[in-house]
Amino acid sequence: MSQIYDRVALIGLGLIASSMFWAIKRAGLAGEVTGFARSSETRDTARRIGLCDRVCDTAQDAVEGADLVVLCVPVGAMGSVAQDIASVLKPGATVTDVGSVKRHVIQAVGPHIPESVHFVPAHPLAGTEHSGPESGFAELFDNRWCLIVPPEGSDQEAVARLRSLWEGLGSFVDEMDADHHDLVLAVTSHAPHLIAYTMVGVADDLRRVTDSEVIKYSAAGFRDFTRIAASDPTMWRDVFLTNKDATLEILGRFTEELFALQRAIRTGDGEQLFDYFTRTREIRRGIIDAGQDTDAPDFGRGTKV
Ligand code: NAP
Repeated sequence: MSQIYDRVALIGLGLIASSMFWAIKRAGLAGEVTGFARSSETRDTARRIGLCDRVCDTAQDAVEGADLVVLCVPVGAMGSVAQDIASVLKPGATVTDVGSVKRHVIQAVGPHIPESVHFVPAHPLAGTEHSGPESGFAELFDNRWCLIVPPEGSDQEAVARLRSLWEGLGSFVDEMDADHHDLVLAVTSHAPHLIAYTMVGVADDLRRVTDSEVIKYSAAGFRDFTRIAASDPTMWRDVFLTNKDATLEILGRFTEELFALQRAIRTGDGEQLFDYFTRTREIRRGIIDAGQDTDAPDFGRGTKV
């Protein structure tokens, strides 16, 4: 793969930014990568581990002269970061982001982007429950999807270049409308995370089962929930605050289905339970057939979400 951008600036140096950096280096996709993180602690860590060719003490310094600026901060912080860097963006540059919610990011960031700069939001569907500058690795995006969400009237060349970058990072790329993205992600990621948080919270509240029993006898189901429920609290708070409508819609449907299954259990309707579980099993098979997970019996350990 050859160089796609002369200079890339990563704003926010957590799991996603650090994985992007190592994958950019792996494939030689950029001449220079600059970086900025809010805290001096994260910037010091980045310098110590060689994350970014140059770590800057302000976002503006990192962005100056960059051809591509990637906003890698929690969704709720995107708008203020965009406002902070707007005046130093290079004409002709592209600003993108990796946020898990797209309509909100477009509304929060879009108004700050100057006419001469392209804005092409994106979302890599790859992650782990770990966060911070030391959690990233070059393979994170390999064979995962990245959804590019170009606002109406986007510059096609800027979109094509960003697509090449994500392909170079190892991803499959699709384009999608922002509202549809937010609904799809509410089903595939946001609602499941809320359910996992709730399930782990319930076990914690249930005093008849002691903490040590929960940990000692944790079976595959609960253990998988705890892995997801260990995800970053700031990131997930922002996801639910900014993808409110789609998440509430899916949770409403979830509650209805849960009541239906609850009723089937109470009335002893084994046929309904069996048919339901047969249908859901097919979805799992589809994910494995699509190469998006393995069938290995690791009970969630070491698996990425
Ligand atoms: P992370 O590991 O927690 O890193 C977040 C980075 O943002 C840190 O460098 C942090 O700086 C900085 N930051 C936090 N609040 C900020 C603020 N108010 N202003 C400026 N900088 C701030 O997060 P991540 O997992 O890489 O997630 C980054 C983005 O990717 C989020 O929008 C998330 O929705 C999206 N995403 C995440 C995943 C996932 O599974 N983790 C997957 C796909 C997309 P300090 O370290 O100095 O606090």
